[in-house]
Amino acid sequence: PVAEMVFSGRDVEAEQQLDAMIRDSASHAISRGEVYLVGAGPGNPDLLTFRALRLMQQADVIVYDRLVSQPILDMCRRDADRVYVGKERDDHAVPQEEINMMLVRLAKEGKRVLRLKGGDPFIFGRGGEEIETLVEHGVPFQVVPGITAAAGVASYAGIPLTHRDYAQSVAFVTGHLKENTFNMNWEGIARKDQTIVIYMGLKGLPLLCEALIKHGLTADMPAAIIQHGTLPTQRVITGDLATLPALAEQAGLKAPTLIIVGNVVKLREKLGWYQPEQHGEQASRTPLEAPDHLP
Ligand code: SAH
Repeated sequence: PVAEMVFSGRDVEAEQQLDAMIRDSASHAISRGEVYLVGAGPGNPDLLTFRALRLMQQADVIVYDRLVSQPILDMCRRDADRVYVGKERDDHAVPQEEINMMLVRLAKEGKRVLRLKGGDPFIFGRGGEEIETLVEHGVPFQVVPGITAAAGVASYAGIPLTHRDYAQSVAFVTGHLKENTFNMNWEGIARKDQTIVIYMGLKGLPLLCEALIKHGLTADMPAAIIQHGTLPTQRVITGDLATLPALAEQAGLKAPTLIIVGNVVKLREKLGWYQPEQHGEQASRTPLEAPDHLP
């Protein structure tokens, strides 16, 4: 625990803890629980951070959801307890409030709890809500950033999110439908000099494309949808706002998928470097090794 405090910049606390450990019996100090809120990246274990891996290997309990792939879970401490909490839209999902309280309870039992999330915990990850509850209950925690889907998936699809000639800004938006509509500031989003990255958009794809055209983008604006980005089962479908919904439907894509809209999508033709489809890698590997863990 002392080393962990130093790594997260809490030197004063670390020194106090060390003093306490020398003074008292070590067991007292060691029983202090903590929560690590860790981003696991988009799925490929190569994209974990060293910090994530270090904490994965020392945690007593792993609380994970669907986006965390099996190869990543396999890198966690072997004898750690594993708790699957699912995610929204999943019938078996544990409600968010219950997850928040579970983290508090486990930490108060003195456990080192790893809350493992896909991508980055602070980007469409509800990480903020989880640590708010920890703060309320005085549970110590640290947050480990992860490669968010937009960054990881764009790299592996060969689509730079900004480019001096095509896009001066990027917007990360959620395509999650609420009562069949989007609660979105379309004027700020639908701009031809901006790349739009849409998370959770597979279901709403036709409505999303329609809305973007209605709010000013041309129907021939390039767009791509990427399934299982960064993984051997990655598939990239490209088209434009008019054609993408039908192309995606024909391809029978499986979640998770990420949508990228903007002129930068054209660059994939030249820059696409990761082509697992063409190398037969897909056929020789089990898709994601744990499809159950993906939405
Ligand atoms: N916190 C996560 C996002 C959680 S929301 C992050 O920072 O990436 C879940 C959405 O992320 C999915 O619906 C999908 O749109 C996107 N996503 C996550 N992993 C992905 C992957 N490997 N390929 C494509 N999209 C992915």
